[in-house]
Amino acid sequence: MQERKQFYIDGQWVDPKDGRDHAVINPSAEEPCATISLGGQADTDAAVAAARAALPGWMATPVGQRIQALERVLEVYKTRAEDLAQAMSLEMGAPLDLARSDQVGAGVAHFKGFIRAAKEFPWEAPLSDKHQDTRIIHEAVGVCAMITPWNWPMNQITLKVGAALVAGNTMVLKPSEESPLNAIIFAEIMHEAGLPKGVFNLVNGDGPGVGNQLSSHPDVDMVSFTGSTRAGRLISIAAADTLKRVHLELGGKGANLIFADADDEAVKRSVEHMMENSGQSCNAPSRMLVESSAYDRVVEEAAEVAKSIQVGPASKEGPHIGPVVNKVQWDKIQDLIQKGIDEGARLVAGGPGLPEGFNKGFYVRPTVFADVTNDMTIAREEIFGPVLSIMKFETEEQAVEIANDTPYGLTNYVQSQDGARRNRLARVLRAGMIEMNGKSRGPGSPFGGMKMSGNGREGGSWGIHDFVEVKAVSGWDVDAPQAAE
Ligand code: NAD
Repeated sequence: MQERKQFYIDGQWVDPKDGRDHAVINPSAEEPCATISLGGQADTDAAVAAARAALPGWMATPVGQRIQALERVLEVYKTRAEDLAQAMSLEMGAPLDLARSDQVGAGVAHFKGFIRAAKEFPWEAPLSDKHQDTRIIHEAVGVCAMITPWNWPMNQITLKVGAALVAGNTMVLKPSEESPLNAIIFAEIMHEAGLPKGVFNLVNGDGPGVGNQLSSHPDVDMVSFTGSTRAGRLISIAAADTLKRVHLELGGKGANLIFADADDEAVKRSVEHMMENSGQSCNAPSRMLVESSAYDRVVEEAAEVAKSIQVGPASKEGPHIGPVVNKVQWDKIQDLIQKGIDEGARLVAGGPGLPEGFNKGFYVRPTVFADVTNDMTIAREEIFGPVLSIMKFETEEQAVEIANDTPYGLTNYVQSQDGARRNRLARVLRAGMIEMNGKSRGPGSPFGGMKMSGNGREGGSWGIHDFVEVKAVSGWDVDAPQAAE
C-alpha cells in the first residue's frame, strides 16, 4: 500500500494545504493499493501561482533550448517506462503487455513527434515573400491547466505536456483521481529532467474540486481537457466567465463500416480493437455496420472472436483484457448490457455478470450484440466497456446515414478492398479521424474529434498549434537580428 499524498509545485514535493485522503483502488483485486490526497483551492492557487511566476522565463527561453528540455524528458521517461507501466496496470487495470507497449510507448512516440515538429514549426515567419515586413509570431498561450482521464493516462498526459512545453507554456496537471500514480511518476520524470521550477506542476484532485478550480481560475489561460463529454460541458461552462481557451478531447461512438469485400482479417481486427483496453477507448469501433450480404457470416465470426478473448488480472503477462476501471463503470456497463437485452438486441457472445471463474474484480465478459438498431441505447451511448453492437445496412448511402447519426464524431472505420469507395466514404463520414483497412495513421497525424467529441487536435505540429497564440506584426525590421535559437 503506497502513500503518495504530496503534490509537485514550484519544483518540489509539498504537503497539501487543503487536502483530503482518497483511496486508489486496484480494479483487478477490488482492493486499495494507494492513498493520495485530493487538493483544494489553496493547492490549486499555489500551483497556478508557481506556473504564472515561471511563465516569463520559460516563454523567453529560446525554442531550441525548450526542445532540448523535452529531449531530456524523453530520455528520463524511457528509464522509468517499467515503473509507469506497473503503476497504470495496478491502478487502472491495463494488462502489463498493453501498459508497456501501447500505453507507455505512446508517450515515447508523442515526445519524438513534438521534438520533430517543433524543429520545423514556423515559430516566426514572414507572412509571404511579398510581405516580409509582416511577421507572424507563434508564442505560448500562457498558464495551461491539463485535466486528464484514466483510460490511456500516459498517452493523454504526454500529448498535452509535450506540446505545451516546446511552445513555451507553463502548466498545472490534474490527472484522474482513478489513476494518479503514473502521473506522480511522470512528475518525478519532469523533476529529474531538470526543468526550471514552476514550469510543470502537479496537483491531484477530483473534478468538482481541483478540476473545476482550474477551469474557472482567472490566472489560467487555457484548459486542455480529455475525458467525458459530460465533464467537457461542465468545464466549458466553468471556463466561460474568464473566456479562457478550452481544448476538448471527448467521447466517441465509432462506426465501423464492413463491406462484403472486406479483407479476411477485417472482422477479427475490428473485434480485437473494440475489446482492447477492455473497451475503454474513446476511439473504440463500437458500432459495427455490416453490409447485408455478409451479415450472418460477420456476426458469427465476431461472436467467435469475442468468445476467444481471455479475461484476467492486469498483472498477468500475455494477451488478454483486464478489468474495467472501477465499480461505477462496471455497474454502468452491466446496466447497458441489460438495456441491450431489454430493447431487443440479440446477444451472441458474453452478457451480464462476471466472467466464469471470477468472484471479484471489475471484470466484464467480452460481449457482442447483433440485430442492433441505431436508436437503441447501446448504439447511442458510449458504453466504455467490451461491448460491441452489430447493425445491418443495405446500401452505402444507408451506411453513411447510420454512421453519421450520432452526437459524436471522433473516429470512424471502413473495411473494404474497393479503393474508390474508401476514398468516397472518407470524405462524407463526419469524424476527426477515418481509419481504413486497419492502416495506422502516420506519425504526427492530428488526433481529435468533431461534434460532441470535442474541438481540438493533438499530436505533432497540430498539437503545437493548439498550444500557441498567433501574433501578426507589421513594420518588422527584416535586417535586424531574427529569432533566437
Ligand atoms: P471524466 O470526464 O469523468 O474525467 C476526466 C477528468 O476530468 C478527470 O481528471 C476528472 O477528475 C475530471 N473531471 C470530471 N468532472 C470534472 C469537472 N466538472 N470539472 C473539471 N474536471 C472534471 O472521464 P473519465 O471517466 O476519466 O474518462 C473517460 C472518458 O474520456 C470517456 O468519455 C472517453 O471517451 C473520454 N476520452 C476521450 C479521449 C479523446 O481523445 N477524445 C481520449 C480518452 C478518453
